[in-house]
Amino acid sequence: MTDENDDLPLPPDTGGGFFGDAPAQDIPASPPPAEAAPYRVLARKYRPQTFDDLIGQDSLVRILRRAFELNRVAHAFMLTGVRGVGKTTTARIIARALNCIGPDGNGGPTADPCGVCANCTAILADRHPDVLEMDAASRTGVDDVREIIEATRFRPMQARMKVFIIDEVHMLSRNAFNALLKTLEEPPPQVTFIFATTELRKVPVTVLSRCQRFDLRRVPQSLLAGHFHNIALKEGATLSEDALALIARAADGSVRDGLSLLDQAIAQGASDADAVADMLGLADRGLVFDLLDALMAGKPAEALDLTDQAYARGADLGVLLADLLDLLHLISRLKAIPSLREGRDLPEAERTRGGALADRLSNAVLGRAWQILLKGVQEIETAPDRRQAAEMVLIRLCHASLLPTPDRLIRQLTEGGQDLSLSAGPLTPTGGASSPVQSGAVSGIGSTNVSESSGGPAPRAHVRLVANGGTILEPGTGYAEVAPEPEPELPPPPRTWREMVAMVAREREPVLHGMLRNAVHLVRFSPPDVQIRAEEPQARIERQLQKLLDRVYPGQWRISASTAPGEPTLDEQGAEVVAINQASVEEHPLVQAILKAFPGAKIGDVQDHSLDEYGLPPEITVPLTDDAPPDLEFAPLDADFLDEDDLNLN
Ligand SMILES: [Zn+2]
Repeated sequence: MTDENDDLPLPPDTGGGFFGDAPAQDIPASPPPAEAAPYRVLARKYRPQTFDDLIGQDSLVRILRRAFELNRVAHAFMLTGVRGVGKTTTARIIARALNCIGPDGNGGPTADPCGVCANCTAILADRHPDVLEMDAASRTGVDDVREIIEATRFRPMQARMKVFIIDEVHMLSRNAFNALLKTLEEPPPQVTFIFATTELRKVPVTVLSRCQRFDLRRVPQSLLAGHFHNIALKEGATLSEDALALIARAADGSVRDGLSLLDQAIAQGASDADAVADMLGLADRGLVFDLLDALMAGKPAEALDLTDQAYARGADLGVLLADLLDLLHLISRLKAIPSLREGRDLPEAERTRGGALADRLSNAVLGRAWQILLKGVQEIETAPDRRQAAEMVLIRLCHASLLPTPDRLIRQLTEGGQDLSLSAGPLTPTGGASSPVQSGAVSGIGSTNVSESSGGPAPRAHVRLVANGGTILEPGTGYAEVAPEPEPELPPPPRTWREMVAMVAREREPVLHGMLRNAVHLVRFSPPDVQIRAEEPQARIERQLQKLLDRVYPGQWRISASTAPGEPTLDEQGAEVVAINQASVEEHPLVQAILKAFPGAKIGDVQDHSLDEYGLPPEITVPLTDDAPPDLEFAPLDADFLDEDDLNLN
């Protein structure tokens, strides 16, 4: 099955012509009884026949119902969405809705086609002479489209409306689109076009703009699982709730893909989660939970044993890692939204075991595992041996979970704890400083902020420890928690050169602002006179600054050029401060302790939160000196990770 219609072949040729010209008398009065029919795949057998049968497409159905009520149905539709969500199914329901004449033969267009009149039954059986379906994947040329255009000139043979359904319409050639466009601009009154595509971006805007567009949604897992449950019941098959959930998950929003998996499961007699996982080549969910337990407890032997089991059962280890990622995401969600544990959307095992892990693992630990796995999944794709690569990732995860999280380490150091052993409990309990959300919400700054315990007045700094260019430590607290300063409503006049330059940034003059900070030396700041020396292009910078000042503070400032050397530029001054900070951070006892606890780590960027946007200390305070080292905070959860294998973990 590679595209929308492979499992839904066109009806047998009933008499020549591109679309087939089945004469009306060949149309059977009703479909053959189901008992007598040969086996049909579930996707076909349970294909929705009415708008009410369509699952997961509520807004499309609502809008179409309203259009039929108001008798304002478009003459061209564009249905888009991933494969298997129901695009051609929707197209066929629209075709019947347009052409239904009701059981008594007197009905008009309706959003609820009867399913029994001659038009309904012929369309259902794919053999209505006026409802013509074409797959643009195989008919891409301008001649194919000319054939359609030719057909639009004739009145419908027996229906009210000729309906052209063109699937995978993005495959049409440019000339074919152009040929179509003219007909779309002035569609004959008895013609409706319904286009379907998985790749909307490849459809020319000129065509799109003449269509009513519907985006068919991926169907949510819980809805799919319920749908599959009902169908399994009708088929007399019993599948466990967890087995159905696995199928729904693998279907990834596609009803049709899910139904063909259900077909397989029923044919193989796979009724529980283990059997379905085997069938899907997945490690079953219980094993993924066991594996995560082992990894978070730092037990590599156990983790690799579980991996061997999964491999022996045919699971792809890349998929296994993706399953672990999925599980970490689930646990993080359970942590953030505890009410999910009460809902019915999740299978039992995920609610109970997932909930237990969410209680046990801190956000910092989850975030670190996520980062390592995410990188690992990418590594596997490029590794010569997927199994080896996956095992390396899992071993790395085991080691990482034995390392204390940085916030924990700092807490131990600052609260007088002497135990710096690397085996410090990997399963950090929640509720401590390891949860940035909680600690941040309470203190507003972050409970690992050293200045709170030391009482020192020094400005806070932000340090990243790195090895070989990557960042190692993620953190419990970060600058996100520092409340932004409120913006003044009216700009007060600048009191210093730096404030004047900042004003330029506020006035959204980024180019001028950039020149002022890195190419302009202040010679004299003595309101209303300001003398500057610009490196280049001097005249332009002064004129631009003067013009801006005149706009914001009319008639208040005079900018003039000077040939005196003046101060270093703001950027030069900032660079000096960075150098001073770097030196003082290296001396800090906490940093020394951390370097010892994480062998091989190096100090990367030093960020001092007390500095302004120019990397300079506030102008009203005493500048930073060597004997007042900055306090420390750590990088936020989304900081880059270093390669743990670059560390000396042995
Ligand atoms: Zn009907």
